[in-house]
Amino acid sequence: MRIPNFIVASVIEPFWDFYDRSLRLKTVSRLSRQQFCSVEELQTRREKLLGKLLKHAFETSSFWQTRMDSANIELADQMTIADIVDLPLLTKDDVRSAGQSMLSSKYKIEELTKAKTGGSTGVALEVWCDKVGVEKRNGAAIHADKWSGWKVGQPQAAVWGNPPEPKTFKNKIRLWLKDRVIYLDTMKVSDESVQKFAEQWSLLRPGLLYGHAHSIYLLATIIRKLGIKLRPTGIVATSMMLINKERKVIEEVFNIPVTNRYGCEEVSLIACECERHKGLHINEEHIFLELLKDDGTHCKPGENGRVVVTELINYGMPMIRHETGDMAILKESLCDCGRPTQLLESVTGRTADFLVAADGSMVAGISLIENSLTRYPGIEQMQVVQKQVDQLELRIVKSDQWEDSLSNILKSVFCDALGSGCNVTISYHDTIPREPSGKYRFSICEVDSA
Ligand SMILES: [Zn+2]
Repeated sequence: MRIPNFIVASVIEPFWDFYDRSLRLKTVSRLSRQQFCSVEELQTRREKLLGKLLKHAFETSSFWQTRMDSANIELADQMTIADIVDLPLLTKDDVRSAGQSMLSSKYKIEELTKAKTGGSTGVALEVWCDKVGVEKRNGAAIHADKWSGWKVGQPQAAVWGNPPEPKTFKNKIRLWLKDRVIYLDTMKVSDESVQKFAEQWSLLRPGLLYGHAHSIYLLATIIRKLGIKLRPTGIVATSMMLINKERKVIEEVFNIPVTNRYGCEEVSLIACECERHKGLHINEEHIFLELLKDDGTHCKPGENGRVVVTELINYGMPMIRHETGDMAILKESLCDCGRPTQLLESVTGRTADFLVAADGSMVAGISLIENSLTRYPGIEQMQVVQKQVDQLELRIVKSDQWEDSLSNILKSVFCDALGSGCNVTISYHDTIPREPSGKYRFSICEVDSA
């Protein structure tokens, strides 16, 4: 039996929050109310949140007390990033070695939720968050989902690796009554699995389609081939690797714009496009974002920098000046939608997705893919693996338009970018294997110094 969407939105969702004593929908309303406030109002609000978080971290976490003491941080009710630039960056190694000394003594460990770990490095990282922080994160994600054209109460369809199976009775009820989501498992995408997904789609009629960008692209190409029409009201691509060629195909096939979103497992939502699609609005109500050059100074708009995040809403395990391992570029102007938050022009990749040129410079894997995969017909899918500075392997899935002359063209494209002495080998595959998380990686750098 299909429950009408308005019943889910107006009765089930609010009841579930009331039953769970959750701040999730209250956060959605607060963010909706505040989203067109002035730049000054937003600044004051987040500076107060930063002051409060730093005081809490200092008073309840031995790790942060030592760190702030060593950096001579002076606490105040209202603080900005300029007040904490002497605080060292929090690296993933720091998080690993600090262990539970980063947790706030205000909470028992069973009151905290452990974030999913792993990420692109494949090395486990334990990040904990208090219940209110989790609810605020979920609220921010729903608020951003609404920018895509999806409405609260509409079912969802996810293109995801290893979809979760509800195990408890409460979770099964929750899936049927409230979450109402169907999955296409990215570990097993085939014509048959897509056909089954489309059958489930026609029963549930999802509003939102979300997943890793490249997986949504693959779904789009298969349904186009099979002549299946799926009509979501919003599409959210959660992976930063939304390349223009794939974006165009997704938008043609589903006939609506794609909303690009950027987040990470440690702090959840970092930035998301609004309905104008002119850059990604930074989630400034919940985070401070810094972009740093290699010398540690802040980037100007237009400059590519390392993404460093301070999350204002996690009191269980404060994450202050956390180096995410990603690179991004800030946009000079604000969005013409009227929201006061700054925009990311683009997220250029994980630092691990950059290849190393012979002269030591870093080359964004995604740009290389755009110069090859996007430019020449004949390549269905591609992955670049740099084994040594002068050793590169291109893994290619050919399409019907493949011509053998293309292999020499590709070799010269990669030699131009990485140095003429680079030895490029090409291997051909039926499919490109996915990461254990179900994500695709376009470029893999195995060079030690990277
Ligand atoms: Zn906007």
